[in-house]
Amino acid sequence: MSGAHRHDSECKRIFALLSEYLDAELPADSCDQIEAHLKDCPPCLEFLESLRRTIELCRGFEPGELPGPLAESVRRELRERYEKALRARESQGAA
Ligand SMILES: [Zn+2]
Repeated sequence: MSGAHRHDSECKRIFALLSEYLDAELPADSCDQIEAHLKDCPPCLEFLESLRRTIELCRGFEPGELPGPLAESVRRELRERYEKALRARESQGAA
């Protein structure tokens, strides 16, 4: 049972890196950490995909185009979405 929840603090740490990842400001070794985590954590991967879609919608980017730095309002929305996603996962995991 402890296996699933081991991820929670790691997920939070990864999220702290995600906004930089999405800003394309992340050093390559941190990028590797995120990608390694995502391989082992489908909910985080799903969440990252939803962040990318949000950013594309917000900024009108074509898919695949690198996003520039995000506005603070966009970051705040992403953080709220993340917290919601994490809470949803926690309630699933506790069942
Ligand atoms: Zn995760």
